[in-house]
Amino acid sequence: MIKDLTPILSDKELFRLMGIIRDAKRVVICAHRGPDGDALGSSLGWAEYLKGLGKYVTVALPNPFPDFLWWVPGAKQVLFHSQQPDRVAKAFAEADLLFCLDCCEAKRMQDMAPLFEKSKAKKVVIDHHLNPDESMADMIISRPEMCSTSEMVFRLIYALGAFEQMTKYGASAIYTGMMTDTGAFTYASAEPEIYMIISLLLTKGIDKDKIYRNVFYSYSEGRLRMMGYVMNEKLQFYEKHKASIFTMNREELSRFHYLRGDMEGLVNMPLQVKGMRLSISLREDTERDVVRVSLRSVDDFPCNKMAAEFFNGGGHHNASGGELPFPLEEAVKTAERAIEAYKELL
Ligand code: 5GP
Ligand code: MN
Repeated sequence: MIKDLTPILSDKELFRLMGIIRDAKRVVICAHRGPDGDALGSSLGWAEYLKGLGKYVTVALPNPFPDFLWWVPGAKQVLFHSQQPDRVAKAFAEADLLFCLDCCEAKRMQDMAPLFEKSKAKKVVIDHHLNPDESMADMIISRPEMCSTSEMVFRLIYALGAFEQMTKYGASAIYTGMMTDTGAFTYASAEPEIYMIISLLLTKGIDKDKIYRNVFYSYSEGRLRMMGYVMNEKLQFYEKHKASIFTMNREELSRFHYLRGDMEGLVNMPLQVKGMRLSISLREDTERDVVRVSLRSVDDFPCNKMAAEFFNGGGHHNASGGELPFPLEEAVKTAERAIEAYKELL
């Protein structure tokens, strides 16, 4: 039996969104700082749709995405606030509609947040994180049960009747976001309709195996060697608590010729050890004086609660992040305190 996709919006909401889009000429699409595959993929997939309607679209991100995402179609046209603040400010000033994707709190856009907040343009959020800030936009489309913002973008385009016009480029961007936010469909991806969406994307001619290789098999030599170093020399297991912590400071990062994105995925690896339930990565930021925290868990361990309580962050049930404004040694103590505090749940 082939059924249709469950509608993402009620008819009333859909008409409202259609009206907002119809009335706009110049659109800015933005997403969170440290953009990942989903932030980029959903933004570019949505941009492709809006361009197809004849809109003038700018994708503006707070800072660059990792090197392994440069191949995503349209990525080279993205503006970064950290590099071209004036061009980004101009795009915001001229826009009559802003979309904020994969981000539901303006403060996650950091230095770019005031441009969003102060703009008089209509604002729409499309996002799958928990607890959106309801006051940040005119329309909030929040679906935490969905695997990725890219899945939401697909469903919106489908509901808006534009699947036929979807290009291979748009489909590739959307698939990239769905794939990266689910660890290549190994978590947060049990909803059967995700695979209906994938089969629809495949009809657009996307090369799913190449997309996988572009993202996961395109690291530098430094990244591979850094992985060995972290797993061999830096990883501390707290066996009793089924948890682990590793740290990387700036000196170690530069020793391995660290490029943005090189640490991505390392935090998942300790969970490959049988019985492990929580992995914590602590990395000195290379641009700001903070420690970036990444948390990954399996099954029912809520790492987003831990991120909110101990690391000024949040995220998803099994994948969260945050940051600490003090030195790495202090951050380790905080992480150890967090493990101790959550030992009943580990
Ligand atoms: P990552 O470990 O890949 O940096 O982040 C994993 C997930 O945690 C992200 O998809 C996002 O949902 C969440 N996250 C990461 N950093 C932060 C942060 O600073 N604040 C909040 N609220 N969530 C974050
Ligand atoms: Mn996402």
